[in-house]
Amino acid sequence: MISRRKVIKSISAIPFLGFLGASGISTAAAMTGLYPMDVKKTSIKRDYFKELGVRTFINAAGTYTALTASLMPKEVIESIHYASHHYVSLDELQEKVGARIASMLRCEDALVSSGAFSAIVYATAASMTGKDQEKIKQLPDDLRGIKDEIIIQKAHRFGYDRAVRNCGGKLVEVETKQDLENAVNEKTAMMFFFNDANNRGKIKDKEFVELGKKHNIPTFNDCAADVPPVENLWKYTGMGFDMVAFSGGKGLEGPQSAGLLLGRKDLIEAARLNMPPRANLGRGMKVNKEEVLAMLIALELFLERDHEKQWEIWENEIRYIQQSVADIRGITTEMYVPEIANHVPSLRIVFDNSITRHSPREIKEALVKGKPSIEVANATENALHLTTWMMDKGEEKIVARRLAEELRE
Ligand SMILES: *Cc1c(COP(=O)(O)O)cnc(C)c1O
Repeated sequence: MISRRKVIKSISAIPFLGFLGASGISTAAAMTGLYPMDVKKTSIKRDYFKELGVRTFINAAGTYTALTASLMPKEVIESIHYASHHYVSLDELQEKVGARIASMLRCEDALVSSGAFSAIVYATAASMTGKDQEKIKQLPDDLRGIKDEIIIQKAHRFGYDRAVRNCGGKLVEVETKQDLENAVNEKTAMMFFFNDANNRGKIKDKEFVELGKKHNIPTFNDCAADVPPVENLWKYTGMGFDMVAFSGGKGLEGPQSAGLLLGRKDLIEAARLNMPPRANLGRGMKVNKEEVLAMLIALELFLERDHEKQWEIWENEIRYIQQSVADIRGITTEMYVPEIANHVPSLRIVFDNSITRHSPREIKEALVKGKPSIEVANATENALHLTTWMMDKGEEKIVARRLAEELRE
């Protein structure tokens, strides 16, 4: 593996350095956590992944779980290191971290789950069992006396809604407001909303919340991939959703196996009763003390960050890549920002397949196989997508150079 310093050095040799220069990573931007990095600048001598033959790469894709999504800032790693030196009571830690997170995010209570997926499991379980110890023991297969129907709009169905079924919950699909009101009955436990699908469903977020309140049914909103913007961390609990989930290791740059469930105190308390250390539904989704603490610290850092400055950096990095491929025949580029999930500056490279020799998929593969290896987001018939969101300082120059090389081929 080429060392970071070597990469930086070799790219300083190319003429177009762009706005930030490429003079290493100990700049003001680095200090204020505008880049995940710093992780790579470590004193660790062993190259574990190299020893294993595991490929590492520049992440121009974004926060894909399969690609390990994000890197934790130095302060977050330090908190993991700190926690690893102490014993604590897991319940006490969860409660105190939860209270701190709740005060930072202006909600009643919070817990650290093992990812947004498990936050969905806990939200569902809490809605099904409340604080009833018998019901907690019954999940997920003995549903006698338990409300087990979870209402969801048809347009909001997606892969991760299977978390509801992990609890024994049954998804009841509706389309219109009238459908929803007809579907409500004494078995209804929760109403599930997938934030990214807001524009696709007939019932929008605010109306969904109103319906939940009208029928006295807890509403849940899955916002896993929906920071930035930072305000989303309090927008949806503020709107009245009873529970809201975020992924810890996507935009928040906390541990990849951590997540947040925010919301109503009684429901978060019920959710906790379904969590480890008790041998219950959540026992296999344990979050260790290191990650519980690290989630809090990641959140602190994220809230402190200069989000406007960060946005400007991302845009400049995208523009740098655009300029580097601007004169290549057969392609055009466009900067865009997805509306809800992954709401960050992104680049679409559109291919005129009658002119270009290679398809977007072939270019994507060539970038993976190249040195250094680079992962971009999805490739379609005629377009390649990428973002500098999860990239380290200076890596946009490497990506720009490799893209130009492959596209000129
Ligand atoms: C990523 C994602 C999840 C799962 O998040 P983890 O933190 O990886 O468990 C759930 N829902 C949505 C909408 C997501 O984007």
